[in-house]
Amino acid sequence: MHCDEDTIVALATPAGIGAVAVVRMSGSRAVEIAGRIFRGKRVPAEVADRGVLLGEVTGLNGDPIDQVLMVVMRAPRSMTGEDVVEINTHGGLLVPRLVLRRAVGEGARPAEAGEFTKRAFLNGKIDLAQAEAVEEIVRASCEKALRAAVRQLRGGLSEEISGLERTLLYWLASVEAQIDFEEGDVEPLDSAGLAGALEAAEDGVRTLLHSYDAGKYVRDGLDVVIVGKPNVGKSSLFNRLLGQDRVIVSEIPGTTRDVVDGLFGVDGLLIRVHDTAGMRDSSDEIESEAVKRTRRAIAEADIALVVLDSSSETTAEDARILDEVSGLAAIVVANKADLVGRTEDDCAGGAAAGVATLPVSALKGWGIGRLVEALQAVAGERLGEAEYAVIVNERQAGNLREAMTAIGAARQSLVGNLPLVLTASDLTQALNCLGEISGKKVAPGVLDQIFSRFCVGK
Ligand code: GDP
Repeated sequence: MHCDEDTIVALATPAGIGAVAVVRMSGSRAVEIAGRIFRGKRVPAEVADRGVLLGEVTGLNGDPIDQVLMVVMRAPRSMTGEDVVEINTHGGLLVPRLVLRRAVGEGARPAEAGEFTKRAFLNGKIDLAQAEAVEEIVRASCEKALRAAVRQLRGGLSEEISGLERTLLYWLASVEAQIDFEEGDVEPLDSAGLAGALEAAEDGVRTLLHSYDAGKYVRDGLDVVIVGKPNVGKSSLFNRLLGQDRVIVSEIPGTTRDVVDGLFGVDGLLIRVHDTAGMRDSSDEIESEAVKRTRRAIAEADIALVVLDSSSETTAEDARILDEVSGLAAIVVANKADLVGRTEDDCAGGAAAGVATLPVSALKGWGIGRLVEALQAVAGERLGEAEYAVIVNERQAGNLREAMTAIGAARQSLVGNLPLVLTASDLTQALNCLGEISGKKVAPGVLDQIFSRFCVGK
């Protein structure tokens, strides 16, 4: 068991007006300190593990601060693996802070960011990947991201990593036996078996990395870039999609001089829309800078929403824009359908599938539902794999990339018949990288870096 003398305390709920706030305390003195600030029929030291007490937290002078529910969780059956006391006070700005101050007055130390989760990790309650999942759960902004994070908290990634570690360890032991013992003392190395195992391990790591890419859509949302000539109605469409007037809509071409972002959610999926400046050649310095930014937004986007103006002929400029986004999944809309005699039903009716260009009217709000469906359909293709994404962050992906390189190097040295010490060293390197993900072999400083991203109270 990890031993830190301090008993820590923090407000586990956001500061502000609310029905209930939770002050959480963890450490060997948690129950004792709780006893000093609490008055009720029973005292915290008397209650069984996971017992709940009703009573009052009192001030130094004995006056009640608030009526509270106190939950006592004994080590090791608690979130941190230490004695934990959670005090449920009434929510508000003052009460939880007074309770916190009382606990500190009796010897608890205000917790640092992520310190509760860090203790859970250090006490072996969760591994590092799971600790990071806690953070992702709190930050999740859409249901899919939440599901991926919950899967990770349950150990999804950890299981995959342990499987890889077991395989690599087995083969490392076999290779080291060859190095350490004379010929004849040990079975000859099953080189073909090792080569096969390395190939499978590489595949496994590749799959995890692939899921990281897919997982990005889940976590960060899909980037949709709206492009089109000036004045075709890009900003109007952007505002329609977001359901609010965020971008200035004007009849003067080139009003949107920058890329403007907005987020909306459909069916648990986050879509980030970027409105861009019109794509036309311009001698105006600001505007040509804007075109540059538009190009950058296109380069970073997942889906392009190309806007045409149905009230005017398509031109070579439209063709050029379509060309610019040829590398992306694209949805083409013919805006201003109201100006060419179309009705709301024309824009809403029929299946979106197979229709090359969707008629919409950003001004009237026609065809927007169908456009969102089309976006969802394209997004769905990308998200199919993401459902099973287990990787949650760049740190883990970085470790996996390094593990992949090391496994590749081990394969190469095996194929090249190089001395087995090299294979052993590559395998060790790969194991170290995998160990960094679960936290078994974590490099100094990395832990602090990870937990400092958490908020206090977690
Ligand atoms: P952008 O330059 O492509 O962003 O275009 P804006 O969104 O600023 O729109 C340019 C002009 O077209 C504005 O006067 C809008 O009101 C108008 N407009 C946009 N969408 C429609 C539409 O669906 N129908 C009609 N009639 N006018 C539209």
